[in-house]
Amino acid sequence: MECEHLYDEEKGDPASGFAPGTRWDEIPDDWACPICGAPKSFFKLVSE
Ligand SMILES: [Zn+2]
Repeated sequence: MECEHLYDEEKGDPASGFAPGTRWDEIPDDWACPICGAPKSFFKLVSE
C-alpha cells in the first residue's frame, strides 16, 4: 500500500474509517496515518 501523505476529501480514507466526503476539519488532530504513523500535521490536503 502506498502512502503519499495527501488527503482527498472526496475519497476520504477508508483505511482510517473516514468515509468519502469526510472533511479535513472533521479529522481529529491526534489522528495519525494508519500506514506509517505520521501525524496529521504531516499531511497535505488535496484541495484542487
Ligand atoms: Zn503515511
